[in-house]
Amino acid sequence: MAEENQETEQKTAQSTDSKPNTNRNNNNNRRPNNNNNNRKPNPNQNRNANKDGKPTGNKPNNNKNKNRNRHRRQPTPVDENLKSFVVKNQEAHKQRLNPHYKLDLNSTAKIRVTPLGGLGEIGGNIMVFETEKEAILVDVGMSFPDETMHGVDILVPDFSYLREIKDKIVGIVITHAHEDHIGAMPYLYKEMQFPIYGTPLPLAMIGNKFDEHHIKEHRKYFNPIVKREIYKIGNDFEVEWMHMTHSILDSSSVAITTEAGTVIHTGDFKIDYTPVDGYTADLHRLAYYGEKGVLALLSDSTNSHNPIATGSELSVGPALDRIFAKAEGRVLLSTFSSNIHRVQQAIQYGVKYGRKVCVIGRSMERNIEIAMQYDYVRFAKNIFIDADEISRYSDKEVLIVTTGSQGEPNSALFRMSIGEHRHVKIKPNDLIVLSSRAIPGNEGSISGMLNHLQRAGASVAMSKEIHVSGHASIEEQKLMLRLVNPKFFLPIHGEYNHVMKHRETGMMCGVPERNILLMTDGEQIEIAPKYMRKVKTVKTGKTYIDNQNNHQIEDDIVLDRQKLASDGVVMMVVQVDGNNSKMTAKPKVTTFGIVPDKQDKAFAKEMEDVIEHFLLHLKDGAIENTRALENDLRQIVRKHIYRKMKKYPLIVPHILLVS
Ligand SMILES: [Zn+2]
Repeated sequence: MAEENQETEQKTAQSTDSKPNTNRNNNNNRRPNNNNNNRKPNPNQNRNANKDGKPTGNKPNNNKNKNRNRHRRQPTPVDENLKSFVVKNQEAHKQRLNPHYKLDLNSTAKIRVTPLGGLGEIGGNIMVFETEKEAILVDVGMSFPDETMHGVDILVPDFSYLREIKDKIVGIVITHAHEDHIGAMPYLYKEMQFPIYGTPLPLAMIGNKFDEHHIKEHRKYFNPIVKREIYKIGNDFEVEWMHMTHSILDSSSVAITTEAGTVIHTGDFKIDYTPVDGYTADLHRLAYYGEKGVLALLSDSTNSHNPIATGSELSVGPALDRIFAKAEGRVLLSTFSSNIHRVQQAIQYGVKYGRKVCVIGRSMERNIEIAMQYDYVRFAKNIFIDADEISRYSDKEVLIVTTGSQGEPNSALFRMSIGEHRHVKIKPNDLIVLSSRAIPGNEGSISGMLNHLQRAGASVAMSKEIHVSGHASIEEQKLMLRLVNPKFFLPIHGEYNHVMKHRETGMMCGVPERNILLMTDGEQIEIAPKYMRKVKTVKTGKTYIDNQNNHQIEDDIVLDRQKLASDGVVMMVVQVDGNNSKMTAKPKVTTFGIVPDKQDKAFAKEMEDVIEHFLLHLKDGAIENTRALENDLRQIVRKHIYRKMKKYPLIVPHILLVS
């Protein structure tokens, strides 16, 4: 099957790429095209010539008008030289719109791409690029659990495949410092280590994680890079970081060049023409690669459904200005702690209206500190105050920048909302500004926090103007596709419906449907100048992590917790004589989470009777295998409870042997 695909793709490739051809896409009408008869005199029109042999021109032939036709104007003579330039221009369009003829179609080199996270889900991004002998990873991120994963704080991708190809891995490439791109690094580095390549901010943030996990020594794997320079990683990879705009500073797209050609991985991006720091996306480098001929584009699909261009980070400023201008009391602003440009703008407008700034919340404090230490942002030191100094200032002189925009129960803002924060209690004239959006799944906790805040008398501002997304909408995705002009397109970062929609956009922008593949985690795709195909599936999944101790929680623990939460638990103690398998005391049953307390006794009694009946009929020797006896007990209780309650609780038999 795979071979068949290859065959088809090769044929395809020959027809589309051995020579430039604009017909490769579905937009023939939009492109210059030699077959387009409307633009030039149609030889068929001569068949409509009148009796005098004169052509009738462009008007439809109509017998009634025959006599009038002789008064029609003669067609303008064609300037053959001009016409030859039309052909030359059409040729130039073909060349620029389809640069893939520049790829070496005779090359047998190929690259394999395997997502180990980030597809079919939002977050947990990790992508493997492999040649015959070497591999690099792009990003090693984490994701968040759903509500069924009790006691689990974060999810880390399953590293099984990385263990398999460990000896091939020559480096890790980091695109940006968001948790879903670097959050799993310490967990990987406790097990295996490779050189890490990235710009300073992501490396500083990873360094912090290494410190927290007591693996400081792994900072020695850092290789800071300069954007626009090309780095050789291993023997097979050349990588260039290109500056990108996103909701965190110092983000990049990467161009990965191997013998098979160049693959562009956008990382997370939006196109912000007026970023706060003035560092626009490096569209020129993307265009440079696009001009050279790009083998494949892997592009961010998060906002695939959004038809409206994503707003500039700078557009949030005026809305914040209006809020500060009107605020009568303290302002408490909460946003994602990694969005330093948002925090920077909030501080800027707070200071403008004479406020001192108090930063509260561990991740917020740490991120602002790193951004200042590495000179990404500059603030005068004297604008900051500590939490215990707030009371020395009047309410109108205070801006509190804090975490908790998602209503996280451990966050500073949430603790303030329920009156449990050491330094800050919510007051009636406080204004809470939530400068963020609800991450899907967090709506409930945000709403809960809003109730607390408003009950305490505070007013809350959370309008659309005070937040912009960090991800490309359809229009920006189109710009990326047109700049890079890839031969093959792999939409990444997103659930299936997001990548599916991004495929549509890819097709609108000239990538043929057969050259687009929708990947899911674990699918390995092989890309060569002549073809792209799925070759195999590798093991993927999630490892559960308890954040309190940074340790893994085994899968069976989470399964047990799910069972306990949904169906309850039954515990039983039976006492049997080990010599003759006779019951020596009545069985005892206790249940939790199955029936209300007042029915507990009666329900336990029923089961005790069932067990007693079973034990009375125990055969001699049954007791020799207690494991089998436990299983039998489990089964009869399970049957009984299912019949009565339609539940499958956790059943814990305990056998006491007496002699
Ligand atoms: Zn991101």
